[in-house]
Amino acid sequence: MDTQVKPNEEHYRVLIVEDEQSIAEGLVDMCEYRGYKASWAPDGEKGLEGALSGNYDLVILDIMLPKMDGFTVCNKVREVNRELPIIMLSARNSDQDIIDGLALGADDYISKPFSVPQLFARIEAVLRRSRRNVDFENDLVLGDLTIHFREYLGVAADGREIPFTRKEIEILQYLNAHRKQTVSRQELLRDVWGYDNAESIDTRTVDIHVTKIRKKIEKVPGAPVYLLTQRGEGYMLRPNPDEEE
Ligand code: CA
Repeated sequence: MDTQVKPNEEHYRVLIVEDEQSIAEGLVDMCEYRGYKASWAPDGEKGLEGALSGNYDLVILDIMLPKMDGFTVCNKVREVNRELPIIMLSARNSDQDIIDGLALGADDYISKPFSVPQLFARIEAVLRRSRRNVDFENDLVLGDLTIHFREYLGVAADGREIPFTRKEIEILQYLNAHRKQTVSRQELLRDVWGYDNAESIDTRTVDIHVTKIRKKIEKVPGAPVYLLTQRGEGYMLRPNPDEEE
């Protein structure tokens, strides 16, 4: 848990890790225009150093960077800080980049070229979410697997440990709080991701996360029994599949 004091909302400190100077300067200007304080790190090593300094509330992290790529930076940050919000910038609109970034614990991604309102919708949603307190007290039991929310860890009956990312835990917590109810992708984007205007946001990120979660919780991820797809409607968590409906 990071112990840094949260500054006033208007003075969020944003670290921009980006090697293309024109993009970085544009982002710094945009952040400052919004009242944030922004700094620029031009390569992965400096980015990692800044991200671990405790001086920032949010990191915008490019993937293709000199000295250390964005995936490595993200991974190294998450080894010691699971809370610091990270938004990855992807040059290509590549599913694999998105999947890799999210698997490493990034909070969100945005593809270049992005629009300013789009980026700030993401930034504001991520910051809003990071202020929210989530109930990490309870465990979730899915068959042989017990998921300890607080530790971001699933433990199987045979002792095997399965790590979860923060986002995966937040999704499972939300679905668990609404167990046996259908939860739409828009609802997840609004309440788990924090987007105000979820209709305009690509729902693919929800599906990608659900696929990752199923690989961890389901015996046969392609034929799930706990985390079900409700065709055309959304998702439903059913912790006790044998219970009578
Ligand atoms: Ca780059």
